[in-house]
Amino acid sequence: MKISATAVEFILETARGAYPREFVGLLRGKDGVIIEVLIFPGSKFEENRSSIFMHMVPLDPSIVGSVHSHPGPARPSRADLQFFERGMVNIIAGRPYTFENLAAFDAHGNPTKLEIVK
Ligand SMILES: [Zn+2]
Repeated sequence: MKISATAVEFILETARGAYPREFVGLLRGKDGVIIEVLIFPGSKFEENRSSIFMHMVPLDPSIVGSVHSHPGPARPSRADLQFFERGMVNIIAGRPYTFENLAAFDAHGNPTKLEIVK
């Protein structure tokens, strides 16, 4: 999956800012490239992730997946894997929040590659 450099920077900055909490967002894609990260005003970072998905995803076909941060390694939890089923691509930002610590997974939890584009 391709992702814009701007979106990557936004994810890393937000993850750093949220630490030690997690942040959760949705990914908006255009022409096969993730171009935007949506974080919902008023949503607590600790809020149940699937509830965010239930409310937002069906309304907007440009949403291709999710992103959230971990206060540790970018390894998906069991809850993450269930949550992933709703998105085409799901990114976890692990500490210390550099591009190398971003992991992407498909709907089945299989690792997938992220390619940065301008
Ligand atoms: Zn997680």
